[in-house]
Amino acid sequence: MKRSTWSLSVSLLAASLAAGGAQAHEEATAWRLFVADHSEPVVHAIDAIEGELLETFEVNGPASLYRSHSGETVYAVQGTADVVTVIATGIAFHDHGDHADIEIEAPRLTGAEIRGEYPVHFVEHQGHWAAFFDKEGVARVFRERDALTGSVELREVDAGAPHHGVVVPYGNFDIVSEPHPEGPSKLPIGIRVQDRNGTRVGELAECPDLHGEATTGNLTAFACATGLLIVRSGDGAPSIEHLPYAEAFREGKATTLLGGRGLQYFLGNYVDDSGHSAVMLIDPSEEEAFRLVELPTRRVHFAVDPIRARYAYVFTEDGQLHQLDVLAGEIRHSLRLTDPYSMDGHWRDPRPRVAVAGENVVVTDPLAGKLHLVDAVSFEKAGEVAVEGTPFNIVAVGGTGAAHGHDHGH
Ligand code: ZN
Ligand code: ZN
Repeated sequence: MKRSTWSLSVSLLAASLAAGGAQAHEEATAWRLFVADHSEPVVHAIDAIEGELLETFEVNGPASLYRSHSGETVYAVQGTADVVTVIATGIAFHDHGDHADIEIEAPRLTGAEIRGEYPVHFVEHQGHWAAFFDKEGVARVFRERDALTGSVELREVDAGAPHHGVVVPYGNFDIVSEPHPEGPSKLPIGIRVQDRNGTRVGELAECPDLHGEATTGNLTAFACATGLLIVRSGDGAPSIEHLPYAEAFREGKATTLLGGRGLQYFLGNYVDDSGHSAVMLIDPSEEEAFRLVELPTRRVHFAVDPIRARYAYVFTEDGQLHQLDVLAGEIRHSLRLTDPYSMDGHWRDPRPRVAVAGENVVVTDPLAGKLHLVDAVSFEKAGEVAVEGTPFNIVAVGGTGAAHGHDHGH
């Protein structure tokens, strides 16, 4: 965990600046925001500290954005344009045991593209990524390392039929969604494990209405109508356990999951027919694994805090950002940022999205053409950044490292 050393690095930076810099252990901090437009095929790279536009990348269609665990790559998944485009963020960390060096370059398109019909779910596991192409029922798996060099070697995993599916590359195995026998318009009915030859290992793990997956620590979860499937690595093939929802709120389900960073938990939305407003905290190691956290109005988007692991942030349709204490299971702070963004209407309508960049939580405000910055600790408004067009999806990468440029003898 870099969490405790992170705040230390910031204070060291302040100390070295006060002393006039140029010390043996100089620190550098960089955070970048990548923001996709709602309707235009562009991705903006923005310096999150200076609030300056660094670059606008032209892609092929409106993009969903994913950042890698390392933060070295951001992927623009363009479902309607049948392609995933790879962007090198220009920020990399090299771990030297007692310290990490930060390397900062201009962000750039690496030239790597993963093509296929209608990519949607896009999942990383241990440096490997799988883009699932719904209209083919096939995933293409590649390594981040290769994506950065601009030339990917693709491995195909065939789920058997077109559907809104997902593949998780899992060591020597792949976890593959099982399409609904009634056709591609229905959600998958479970997951199966395949070896590298595409041979099924073990039984189908049932998961009606499978939608939503995440990884936290060494656990991977899939959301189902009945509960969560929890995947653990075992001797050989991964093991899969079904964790049913608590009796008290079995009327609803999760359809979107996030995995905690620095704390092992899942954060899920909570969907039921009554339009109930809540999110779900899931800790599979607890006897009472599920907790509901009530919200004033429906959830629009959420993000976990990778630095202050105890917190996650939820944006609701009344225009408020909430700080959620995931240990206590309570909302600690709420701050109104935008005009209301109703969840009625088309699911694809422009609505705010949340990311965490260093000291700030950043919220896109598509209809106002700007980003709101909120101090993650004081939970007060820390600034705004104007972005042309309709800024929509957002991810952040960055951190603090040593910038001494020394020779490590390798
Ligand atoms: Zn170093
Ligand atoms: Zn989906």
